[in-house]
Amino acid sequence: METSRSAELFAEAQHHIPGGVNSPVRAFRGVGGTPRFIEHGAGAYLYDADGNKYIDYVLSWGPLILGHAHPEIVWVVSNQAARGTSFGAPTASETELAQLITAAMPAVELVRFVSSGTEATMSAIRLARAYTKRAKVIKFAGCYHGHADEFLVQAGSGVATLGLPDSPGVPPAATADTLSVPYNDLDAVEAVLKQHHDQVAAIIVEPVAGNMGLVPPLPGYLTGLRALADAHDALLVFDEVMTGFRVAPGGAQELYGVTPDLTCLGKVIGGGLPAAAYGGRREIMQQIAPAGPVYQAGTLSGNPLAMVAGAATLRAISAPGVFERLSQVAAQLRDGFAAAAEAANVPLQAASVGSMWGFFFAAAPIRDYASAKQHADTARYARFFHAMLERGVYLAPSQFEAAFVSLAHDDAEVEYTLEAARAAFRA
Ligand SMILES: *Cc1c(COP(=O)(O)O)cnc(C)c1O
Repeated sequence: METSRSAELFAEAQHHIPGGVNSPVRAFRGVGGTPRFIEHGAGAYLYDADGNKYIDYVLSWGPLILGHAHPEIVWVVSNQAARGTSFGAPTASETELAQLITAAMPAVELVRFVSSGTEATMSAIRLARAYTKRAKVIKFAGCYHGHADEFLVQAGSGVATLGLPDSPGVPPAATADTLSVPYNDLDAVEAVLKQHHDQVAAIIVEPVAGNMGLVPPLPGYLTGLRALADAHDALLVFDEVMTGFRVAPGGAQELYGVTPDLTCLGKVIGGGLPAAAYGGRREIMQQIAPAGPVYQAGTLSGNPLAMVAGAATLRAISAPGVFERLSQVAAQLRDGFAAAAEAANVPLQAASVGSMWGFFFAAAPIRDYASAKQHADTARYARFFHAMLERGVYLAPSQFEAAFVSLAHDDAEVEYTLEAARAAFRA
């Protein structure tokens, strides 16, 4: 496979941009090799600068549930662009997207738009702290909530780890109120709540973890978190930036039947343009300025291009049968990968939830960040990743990421991918 043009572009980019990329995983450090510079996308496919074609399972890290350059999205975005791209004043498109979200997620009574998932989680936690008049936040090791200081906390083993910053530049004071506990472990949460009695403002969780690889919640886990939050008067915040409109029309909260106090959204709701949101109970959301005293703002918040792309996306996926179809495609990939690995005698843990799927090169089940780090064979993943890339299948360039499917992924793409996987597992 020819990659010289991507290599040239990457070398040039590194002269001007740190590491040549604007978000770290894109640089392929987790798997080695040269990141592909993308020239265009269409449906389920990416086309790189050397003219190679790939079936895309990254989908811009989740947003593109309709696939690349969907005609409806192209139409609404072009149409809006011709009428102006930003006004810094309210537009009807914001209310329209808000209505689509609140209709799909009954727990979201009011919703505020921002431009990135990072802003959504950061603002939701500010609000939770203001509302409860408490400072501490429980998060789970391996769950990613964007790059705000307070969430960049080293994964701790044991019951609770008082926040040690994960990145230089994050002062210890910024993470001093962040309590990190293992995912899928209710006892650990209860112990921390008891230890910090009356101090915990919120428990924030990825209801289906997708940023340590795909790790679904164990049965009863989310219900248990709801009960613990209630018992300790803390708010339960679902970070559904990845899972919202991805695992079910109403997100993980619909799929598992658990109602959070606040919900963070992003990715799919922007239809491939920068939009994210946080929302929840009216009484809590009314605390946000200008309705209430909690400050939060944004020059491009509720950007009309993103609003119309998001609304067109949510309308398209509300058609009957869409989630059945997406879930079935993801399950076919999950089962096909499991079977291909078994035939090649390769230990593999494969999972899917709605249109998310993923796999670990591991012999033991993965339930949390510690087991992912301990058991997942990252060198093997890197080899497999490149074997698939050579065959024209674009997976995430890291073992610790989820995979996605879109409505553009059809039987032909699934069959081709499984054929490639059968060869790559043997390689
Ligand atoms: C992607 C993601 C974020 C961060 O969103 P950005 O738009 O990249 O800032 C936050 N939480 C979860 C669960 C995510 O998957």
